[in-house]
Amino acid sequence: MAAENIDREPRAGRAQLLEGALVAAEIKQKVQADVERMVREHLVRPSLAAVRVGDDPASAVYVKNKIRASAEVGIRSEQHALPESTTAIELLDLISSLNERSDVDGILVQLPLPRQIEESAIIEAVDPAKDVDGFHPVNVGKLAMGRPVFVPCTPAGIIELLDHHQIELRGANACVVGRSQIVGRPMAQLLLQRDATVTICHSRTRDLPAVTRAADILIVAIGRAGLIGREHIKQGATVIDVGMNKISDAAEVREMFGAEAEKRMEIIAKRGYTLVGDVNPVAADHLAGRRTPVPGGVGLLTVAMLMRNTVEAARRRRQLE
Ligand code: NDP
Repeated sequence: MAAENIDREPRAGRAQLLEGALVAAEIKQKVQADVERMVREHLVRPSLAAVRVGDDPASAVYVKNKIRASAEVGIRSEQHALPESTTAIELLDLISSLNERSDVDGILVQLPLPRQIEESAIIEAVDPAKDVDGFHPVNVGKLAMGRPVFVPCTPAGIIELLDHHQIELRGANACVVGRSQIVGRPMAQLLLQRDATVTICHSRTRDLPAVTRAADILIVAIGRAGLIGREHIKQGATVIDVGMNKISDAAEVREMFGAEAEKRMEIIAKRGYTLVGDVNPVAADHLAGRRTPVPGGVGLLTVAMLMRNTVEAARRRRQLE
């Protein structure tokens, strides 16, 4: 009886942290070497056009990071920043000119777009051969058919992270919480392609904890600060936290971070908020075998994979190698 109780006790250790920085640096190094080879052997320098509409500060930071990463790996980049009042026609005109330009290999349109512009029409206007975000229906369809070309960067980066840490996907029970076009759905497709047994959960899932607790690999992309807690995590599981949520409420921070709340409170005092994931880190530390931190986990890989997709676009479009 006593032994049974002990077995049921959660492991009192701390989960191994799967940090994104090292893996992202490795990917970028490899991309840089590929770019240098393209320049040397083919006189081709891959190029990326980043389009941003409006004044969303987060979008401005994301685009700045992508431009900076391009410079680091030797990709030529250009930024098109359009005003908040831009119409769909004006944006479509710009995309059409970028589609036609032979010196542009990759096009990314930073989302979200202002309300007057329908995102799906814009995504569909990008030439699938330049769709380095992997959002165009042609690329979504190819991924679903198991013949991926451009895969959305965040889920592609997660697979890199799992592979780097030699986490077995074949036959594993993988659960993806969230079914968005940019994370959840493509993530599930990639895991399926790697022979995992995949369950997809969403806001209508009944008894979420019962489903997630069966997962060896739990990937959470819902945008709800710390929603995934002890009751959701199987002991020893690998937990990947995609969420990026800003919180500034002291009580919420204490609940999420326990003894480590003070560090976060200092960040809030400085910046007005702290960035947290969808997974309660204390619960994950206690129960999971491995987990990604927020920040410092998945986010770093997204930009690295965009760089890789841009080089791939240049290679395919220009029929190199
Ligand atoms: P979306 O808002 O597009 O999708 C959220 C998904 O979560 C939906 O499928 C929704 O279900 C589901 N969901 C919401 N609440 C619950 C709940 N209580 N229980 C179960 N499922 C729920 O989000 P994104 O996929 O765009 O982003 C998710 C998070 O990941 C955000 O925090 C975002 O900031 C972050 N992110 C991070 C990136 C990175 O590089 N690190 C990149 C992209 C996103 P339903 O479909 O039923 O509504």
